[in-house]
Amino acid sequence: MSADTPQDSPQAAPSPLGGNGTAAMSPGDEAPPGTPGTGESICRTCGGSGRDPDRRICPECNGTGKVTVGIGGA
Ligand SMILES: [Zn+2]
Repeated sequence: MSADTPQDSPQAAPSPLGGNGTAAMSPGDEAPPGTPGTGESICRTCGGSGRDPDRRICPECNGTGKVTVGIGGA
């Protein structure tokens, strides 16, 4: 039998942010906050209220009323 020591994938480094390893992104975000060429925009799904018509947390912006979207060209 081999005595090799099993090692985790080098890609499985722990994230300093914790959680799932990404910045706080909402499903409606096109890029993480702070990404060059992107900016905050009013969530088109809830119109900035952060709530859907049923008064639940808007799934697109996670209730923030804003999403990060690409701006400028393209
Ligand atoms: Zn929304």
